[in-house]
Amino acid sequence: MCASYWNLIAQFTCPSCHESSDWELQTHFMGGVKGTMCMDYYNIGDKISPLGDMSVILNGKNDDFIGDCPKCGKYYDFGGQIVNGKVESVFILKHL
Ligand SMILES: [Zn+2]
Repeated sequence: MCASYWNLIAQFTCPSCHESSDWELQTHFMGGVKGTMCMDYYNIGDKISPLGDMSVILNGKNDDFIGDCPKCGKYYDFGGQIVNGKVESVFILKHL
């Protein structure tokens, strides 16, 4: 068995170093439901089969993505907008 998470590749501009690159974000959201998705990678706009036709916004309370900048290594928590089982966009979560 593997950890139940999946990965999202998202082009994003780092708020810290202002470089745009492909971030590798990771989430446990719905992970492990089917037990085989631990190393699955998806891109923005891909159909993510375990999510079905779900539409939800991950806001840090229900779940979130984590990732670090490929350029400078700074860590961020991300929210995501999921529409019909596809991640449409991601955004940095602001923690108070
Ligand atoms: Zn950076």
